[in-house]
Amino acid sequence: MSVQTVEKPRASYPELKDKIAVVTGAGSGIGRAAALALAAQGVKVGLLDLKDGRTEQVKQEIISMQGEAVTEDVDVSDPKRVQQAIEAIGKQWGKIDIVFANAGINGVLAPIEDMNPDEWDHTLSTNLKGTFLTVKYAIPYMKGQGGSIIITSSINGNRVFSNFGMSAYSTSKAGQVAFAKMAALELARYHIRVNAICPGSIQTHISESTHPTPELNKIKIPVKYPEGNQPLEHAPGQPEQVGDLIAFLASDASSHITGTEMFIDGAESLI
Ligand code: NAD
Repeated sequence: MSVQTVEKPRASYPELKDKIAVVTGAGSGIGRAAALALAAQGVKVGLLDLKDGRTEQVKQEIISMQGEAVTEDVDVSDPKRVQQAIEAIGKQWGKIDIVFANAGINGVLAPIEDMNPDEWDHTLSTNLKGTFLTVKYAIPYMKGQGGSIIITSSINGNRVFSNFGMSAYSTSKAGQVAFAKMAALELARYHIRVNAICPGSIQTHISESTHPTPELNKIKIPVKYPEGNQPLEHAPGQPEQVGDLIAFLASDASSHITGTEMFIDGAESLI
């Protein structure tokens, strides 16, 4: 994957300077790129991830950009750990302006009849309950001044239903969009905007959390795609391109955008 550091942002949002962000899944891929994109705008970033070593590296990258960051070792499916981590960040910097609820896994890919209920729960708890917990515990630190919440959903579960074995993943990703819309309406009174992003294929470490089972062969339907791949750039997206979208959705440039899902996939999901 690309490990390019975003030192010079492609767009400048001066109002983001000294804002406070919480980013989950910040140690890798899209979360890392978003943390760097926000830090490049002068945002102070709380980096949450299961994998502490990786977030420590991201923190060092942010410090080398003259930015500020703290790390918290968190399993987003664990209410106590999420609450403690978000409270630590809220207390350290006094408030939270931006939440990027992004941590997620592909999980076990299996036919529904072969999927173990624990495997289903693991994917749903990480992706969907993890989003709920992250948003829930951040609200007290956002209510006073308002802010922006961004949730990483996916093209899967929203426009694409042909990735076989992804019933748990796609359900979690569809649920995140419904949750974003409910939250957008509920939190508008506090001037908190809530949006979901739906990436197509992005070059990250997501394969590490992808566990296909041999039983998948039973349910695959041969699909003949058009020749080639992503129509716009003929390649998967880069995490830095998603980082640019996160900076935009965190900024005042998106001040009237809430309760919507935004596809970032180079038209992949339209095929
Ligand atoms: P990634 O594996 O590179 O990064 C995900 C990060 O989340 C990792 O650092 C991992 O340690 C962390 N994480 C996983 N489970 C966690 C937990 N329980 N608690 C805390 N942290 C946890 O993958 P990525 O592609 O950057 O994924 C980020 C998000 O993007 C996910 O929600 C994923 O579903 C979504 N997404 C990815 C793609 C893609 O093609 N890469 C496409 C659409 C959506």
